[in-house]
Amino acid sequence: LSERIDAEADKACETQDGCRMSLLINAGLSVEIETVARSRGNGIGLYRTEIPFMLRESFPSEKEQIKLYSEVLHCVPEQQVTMRTLDVGGDKPLPYFPINEENPFLGWRGVRLTLDHPEIFLVQIRAMLKASLGLKNLQIMLPMISSVNEVQEATRLIEQAFFEVREEAIETGQLLVKPKIGVMLEVPSVLYQLPQLAKHVDFFSVGSNDLTQYLLAVDRNNTRVAGLYNSYHPAVLSALYDIVRQADANQIPVTVCGEIAGEPGGAILLMGMGYRRLSMNAHNLRKINWVVRNVNLQESKNLLSCALTAHTHQDVYSHINDYLEQKG
Ligand code: PEP
Ligand code: MG
Repeated sequence: LSERIDAEADKACETQDGCRMSLLINAGLSVEIETVARSRGNGIGLYRTEIPFMLRESFPSEKEQIKLYSEVLHCVPEQQVTMRTLDVGGDKPLPYFPINEENPFLGWRGVRLTLDHPEIFLVQIRAMLKASLGLKNLQIMLPMISSVNEVQEATRLIEQAFFEVREEAIETGQLLVKPKIGVMLEVPSVLYQLPQLAKHVDFFSVGSNDLTQYLLAVDRNNTRVAGLYNSYHPAVLSALYDIVRQADANQIPVTVCGEIAGEPGGAILLMGMGYRRLSMNAHNLRKINWVVRNVNLQESKNLLSCALTAHTHQDVYSHINDYLEQKG
């Protein structure tokens, strides 16, 4: 099978009945960035900026961040790179910025922390913008958004940084393109505010890992309740289906960047729902490309209908397995 997957990896990612899918990459480490340059992905759907922050002993300076982001943006200059602003807190601690909380996943994480520390946020945004000088491929994404207020506040700071960097760009005669701004959909409250959010941002990206955790009230890293954490829970699937329909109705591009997008059964279900952009770890790219090329859209919709009426995630798995077996 792996030979068959390799042989087809360079072909366009389209189902047998002509539905085109964009496959993007999740990255954070420089070795992953190198893979991106070699792969046939459609760009970086999620660049986790907290990873280089976690590997250091102190906050990287603006200059150090410019260097880092510039390498990433230049690695795929013709493709879009969605850089997520710092998403620390929760399960991602910074050794030099300790946070002690009883409920870290419900606490100071993602944009909550950076909006309380605009000096950290502004340095990061300025660094992203400076790194993008002369290029057109930067997009900025906000993690852990739970209300429109946070989007407004973050957008105001991004505008502020943009005008500062623009002064410099004008002085030096360099091109500075205003980046598109998007939000992660990973906190359940935003599922009920998608039309409002759509008025404030350019794109959505579903963080199915956190969305699963928050919808099911299951800590994604607690082994004691690991059996309850499942993105194929029928309620999670319904939420994912609802998001893509609302995004389409509001004409706003939407990607899924959680783990489910890089799993064969998950990718097929997401395609059946109407998602056309999936972002995944680089090592899943070839496999998912192969899966897409070997299914057809109508079948994925049929599988989705079965999954949406299932009572348990085990039932969903058995529908997926039956389908995959039948495809050989
Ligand atoms: C997610 O929550 O699905 C996601 C992609 O972000 P992270 O796993 O980095 O929290
Ligand atoms: Mg997340």
